[in-house]
Parts: sequence; structure tokens; C-alpha cells
Amino acid sequence: MPTSWRRVAGSIYSLGVPARANALWSPARPTDVDEDPVELGVSLLANLEHEELSLADAMDRIETITTDPALAREILDTAELRGVIEREDGLIRPKRGTYVRFERDVVRREGEFTCKRCGTALRTGYFIRFEAGEHGPFGSSCIRTVTGRE
Ligand SMILES: [Zn+2]
Repeated sequence: MPTSWRRVAGSIYSLGVPARANALWSPARPTDVDEDPVELGVSLLANLEHEELSLADAMDRIETITTDPALAREILDTAELRGVIEREDGLIRPKRGTYVRFERDVVRREGEFTCKRCGTALRTGYFIRFEAGEHGPFGSSCIRTVTGRE
């Protein structure tokens, strides 16, 4: 658990809705900055193909969308509120079956990209397409990590 995460955990509810800073988004990102990072994050959690994962692993996925701990927490809270995930003893369990899965596609594009997760330069970028928007690019191994499709 990153210390920044822990520090904010107790205080977020008194802060109201956290500012949605987009400053951390990669400049290499396409210009469609209207995507709501919370919707994107909830979509991402809803589509994880893991039985369960640690909060740290969930944060690893969420940090591909935002490194702002307040925003990351909002993503987790929103996902839990909507029944997309269950949280228990530091574990995240994506719920299956009881909720409609978000439509998801992984699209592949050739070009010059930087992996959103590990920063590697890519010739082939993989993007996850959600209803809430597109998330990526990722390299071929990071896309499997992020989706949980190992
Ligand atoms: Zn990567």
C-alpha cells in the first residue's frame, strides 16, 4: 500500500468531491480528455478478470488512469457503491454475474506509443475500449496484466 494512499484514506470523506486533476495524464494521450477518470476506473475494475486481487494490485491498475490518491479512492468507492467490486480485508473482488458487464474491447494500433503502465516505448499499442472511453496504450504484456487476462 503506497504511503500516499494511506495518508488520504481517513480524510477523503470530509473533503467532499476531490478535484479531478488531469495534470498527471500523459501528454502522449489522445486529446479526448473529456473522459471521466472515475468512469474509466470503474469500468476497468468491473472488467478485471481476476478472482480477487490485493489493494496494491488494484492500485497498480488504477494508477494507469490516475496517480492522484484521492481520485483513486473515489474510483474504488464508486466501484464498491455500484456493486462492481467487493472490498474485504485489503482484497478487491470484482463481482461477476450479478451485474451487467461493461462492454469492453481491446483494440490494437500501430504507431509510436509509450506504455501507460511501465513507460516502455511501443510500436504496437493496445487500448481498452470502454463505454466510458478508451484506456491505453499498453504493451502486450501490460495489457494482460491490466485486464487480468494472463
Ligand atoms: Zn507496459
